[in-house]
Amino acid sequence: MNPYIGQFESFITATAGAILFWALGSRLTATTRFELGRGRYVGAFPFIGAFLGAGLAGGIFTQQSYLALAVAAVLLAIIGFLRDRQRFSYLTLLPYCGLIIVSSLFTAMDSATSGVFVISATLWAILIIFCLKIAELVYEMPFILLATSALTQFIYFSQHQFTQTAVLVNLALLTASVLMLIYSASGRRVLIGSSGIFTAGFLLAAVSLLEGSGRLLLFGLFVPSMVILFPFALITGMIIASYFGNRLHLGNSHERLYSWSLRREKTVLFSGLFFLCLNFLALLVMIEAPGFAYFALFLLFVLSLFVFVSTFARKDVGSSTPASGQIEILGITIDAVLPIEVIKRIGCYLDADAESGSILEIFHIVTADSLALVRADEEAGFKALMRRAALVVPDGAGVVWAADFLGTPLPGRVPGVALVSQVCEAAGKAGWKVFLLGGKPGIAQQAADSLLQEHSISICGVEHGYFAPDSVEEEATLKKITEAAPDIIFVALGVPRQEYFIARLRNCLNRCVAIGVGGSFDVISQTLPRAPAWMQRCGIEWLFRLWLEPRRFMRMLGIPIFVLQILRHKWNTES
Ligand code: UDP
Repeated sequence: MNPYIGQFESFITATAGAILFWALGSRLTATTRFELGRGRYVGAFPFIGAFLGAGLAGGIFTQQSYLALAVAAVLLAIIGFLRDRQRFSYLTLLPYCGLIIVSSLFTAMDSATSGVFVISATLWAILIIFCLKIAELVYEMPFILLATSALTQFIYFSQHQFTQTAVLVNLALLTASVLMLIYSASGRRVLIGSSGIFTAGFLLAAVSLLEGSGRLLLFGLFVPSMVILFPFALITGMIIASYFGNRLHLGNSHERLYSWSLRREKTVLFSGLFFLCLNFLALLVMIEAPGFAYFALFLLFVLSLFVFVSTFARKDVGSSTPASGQIEILGITIDAVLPIEVIKRIGCYLDADAESGSILEIFHIVTADSLALVRADEEAGFKALMRRAALVVPDGAGVVWAADFLGTPLPGRVPGVALVSQVCEAAGKAGWKVFLLGGKPGIAQQAADSLLQEHSISICGVEHGYFAPDSVEEEATLKKITEAAPDIIFVALGVPRQEYFIARLRNCLNRCVAIGVGGSFDVISQTLPRAPAWMQRCGIEWLFRLWLEPRRFMRMLGIPIFVLQILRHKWNTES
């Protein structure tokens, strides 16, 4: 049977179903409180409504595959709703979601389908749900991803024979997502929540899985890759665009004065167009489209570029001045200081102690990059340590970018490697004793030799950093440090280990400046090269480190999360 028979009726009933359920959902949840940000909660209501509506006109309620999907969609919506009400953690809900997806796919798929396929299909569905969950940070983004994927699949269906269930599920996703986008285009925000994401993500994955089509799976691949790649592309693009407009490359904040004019609506429009280009490119290749179709795609691409330039490369000079004192990013206070100010503060601290003879707390300096801020946002213990620190300095282009973007520009970066060198110079003049802790065996010594060649400092101890937390070796290291009684200790154990270690030092030393400096010893000892100056200026030092140490990839996924959280924060606080 041709799956397109009755398609128009299905479209009408899907739209009616989506609107009806949406209105119903609004009523039911009108007095419910959700901690999901600003906006109107819609959850899975429009998706369930569209799905049931499409099935009604399609007359396929009796089909086993459709029923299995319907039951799973409703159950996932309920589970997601419980999460939205913060009743359970994701980890508690995960096994239930997995069970629902596995059993519905087993029922919906051909009886000949192997168990291994169903299990991998379930993991696939969970991956898509996870990626949509990340995209939720940018409000309309899940709707954009769902709508463009569904639209592309829909066009693909017109060239091939597919089952009616797959066509109708797709139609439902497209209708509900477009409706939500139209609504949000009027300026009101809609919150899809976990409920909507669980349901819609599962249905999107199910369309490709039901058909068992490798090509359709490829479309599905765009969702995860887009979510992960988009923030990377966005920040790199913004930095490049800043050469033409916002001048981020100028280190001096007085010359860098501007306010970012990155409007939420424009960003969503740009991402939608960009994602559509990607999807259509894949589509045209798959259906072996004629040349003029590629020309149309080219026009779409030019339009996306135009939106990109008008959004990101706009110069808006003079509306913000560099912050003095402190600023806040993701709930963490950052000190708006340059290295010279850090040295001054260290001097005041050590001198004050010498004069008064009073016992002071350790002067903990955190060199925070974007990954550290993301960690602090997730790990309460680490956040508490950062809050307790004497100084939190911005180490990394991501933090400087975020400060600019949030309208509280910092005077500049305080890179860990440069800070070590500058502090050593001051230590040489003032006669402060320095201790170097961290790195693989031998690295701290090499770093010490290199520092001794440049500065006339007194190094009172050097120790490698490869010992387990709370081990006998750690106790021995703490003892050595206590005996050496340094004025300044550089702790290079990586984030967050070094901050936890410095917290332990509080019980051993009572007058000391402790600075967490990450991988600085590797660079100072010349074990690892530092990124070329142009890469540092462009704020893409992280790309260089990734090139040198590909194992950092998983950790660096925190960078897009950071960008998304900053975007969300800005759009949540602005009118
Ligand atoms: N490191 C260490 N002990 C450990 C783990 C790491 O001394 O148990 C050292 C590692 O050799 C490197 C430094 O910590 O020199 C920082 O590591 P990484 O670059 O991963 O941290 P980040 O700079 O990203 O905080």
